Amino acid sequence: MRIVVIGGLAAGPSAAAKAARTNPQADVILFEASETVSYGICETPYVLGGSLPSEEKLVIYTPERLRDEKRIDVRVGHFAERIIPSRKTVVVRDLHAQRSEEVKYDALILATGAHPRRLGIPHEDARNVFCLGSRSDTLAIARYLETETPKQAVIVGGGYVAMETAEAFRARGLAVTLVHRGRLPMPGLEDETREAVRWELERNGVVLIPDAEVEGFVPGKNSAVGHVVTTKGTFEADLVLTAIGVVPNASLAKSAGLRMGAYGGILTNNRQQTSADAIYAAGDCCELVNAVTGERMVLALATLASRTGWIAGENASGGRIKFEGVVRAMGVRVFGLQVAAVGIHSREAASAGIAAESVSIHAYEKIALFPDAQKLNVRLLFERRTGRLLGANLTGPAGAILRAATLSLAIRNGLTVRQLADLDCCYTPPFTPLWDPLLIAAQQAVKKIS
Ligand SMILES: Cc1cc2nc3c(=O)[nH]c(=O)nc-3n(C[C@H](O)[C@H](O)[C@H](O)COP(=O)(O)OP(=O)(O)OC[C@H]3O[C@@H](n4cnc5c(N)ncnc54)[C@H](O)[C@@H]3O)c2cc1C
Repeated sequence: MRIVVIGGLAAGPSAAAKAARTNPQADVILFEASETVSYGICETPYVLGGSLPSEEKLVIYTPERLRDEKRIDVRVGHFAERIIPSRKTVVVRDLHAQRSEEVKYDALILATGAHPRRLGIPHEDARNVFCLGSRSDTLAIARYLETETPKQAVIVGGGYVAMETAEAFRARGLAVTLVHRGRLPMPGLEDETREAVRWELERNGVVLIPDAEVEGFVPGKNSAVGHVVTTKGTFEADLVLTAIGVVPNASLAKSAGLRMGAYGGILTNNRQQTSADAIYAAGDCCELVNAVTGERMVLALATLASRTGWIAGENASGGRIKFEGVVRAMGVRVFGLQVAAVGIHSREAASAGIAAESVSIHAYEKIALFPDAQKLNVRLLFERRTGRLLGANLTGPAGAILRAATLSLAIRNGLTVRQLADLDCCYTPPFTPLWDPLLIAAQQAVKKIS
């Protein structure tokens, strides 16, 4: 049996390794267009900011290690041009030899990821305008920071990549202006959390330009952009980073006639199988099902890419495991603030027709006597009638990210705030108080349903 995987960053290697383990007789070939597989793109902002010293260490597995340790035949510099489902073949171009060949498969796994969304305006390809979605983007930004020593960065976007790069550029001593669409940054969070993020950005010297749309780039010296023109003013820039989200890279699947979803991602069933029997898909190129609302969505996270890759890999080689949908679990560090969000937010609940209620508490994440004790904000969203937990935001200098996992598990299992209030937590003075902030929030929520 031959299993072919297209794409080698997160979902692809996970799928290929699982396929090879599930069926030790299978021939597993992975094609990757770039020269790198298995790369820690999530860590790149910390390399750019200098808190991680070595970019090279972000390569998790080399092609040789994947071959020797995981039994995967990795071919970098190979671009999949076309799938022919009727012949069960994929046409792959060797980008070095400039030669294409038709490769047969018994099962095919698409892990082609997502592209950074583009503004689609003139001068977006100028030498000082970047996005961050691949190793080559990382190296290009790092080189520019090193050789041109820019002083003023304009970041376009208000999501987590914009937050992380704002921190990185400030750490490098750049002045940072962040131009974003909404009234507040981080559109996937509750407004109270977004206010905390705004405050933290401003406290760290980031100039926020809210409710702004980019209208154009004005060329400056040496083929670079000199100014960014927005609906809220014109801003000088030595470096521009656009971080306005991603679009599923699903053109290969679409041209092969596979069923696509409303958000432009590949549609799969809960075994990660596409509308063609022998073709599976995983990672950012797919649409996923939100476990809370049952609705389809796209969500670019490495955690989900690896998990769906794992499922596609096992099923492509004869297994029968299911993906139970996504309880969104997202965390980010915004300078000194940990920000975590799980499940859905109140606007999503409203649009899904769920009558929801919320509570928000501030409590110490450890015993207040410790000089470094900090307050944590826990905001729970729950169904008004039943108390079923729907979502949560946690923010604070410490203790937010890891607590979010407990709430994610509670949401996954349909627990109510009453059940959450029964949680047995550790009481360990240097780490957790007698009444954990999760318990305090759950107790407040119980009062609202009873
Ligand atoms: C700066 C940054 C920070 C992030 N931080 C986090 C984080 O903290 N936590 C988190 O969970 N997620 C994070 N993410 C998101 C996460 O990195 C992505 O969700 C994840 O990389 C998706 O993996 P993927 O394998 O589906 O797709 P991709 O990573 O997009 O990889 C797809 C691969 O397929 C290759 N490819 C595409 N088409 C072809 C073709 N036709 N032929 C051959 N090869 C092809 C591409 O070259 C690429 O290498 C971050 C992303 C960025 C950019």
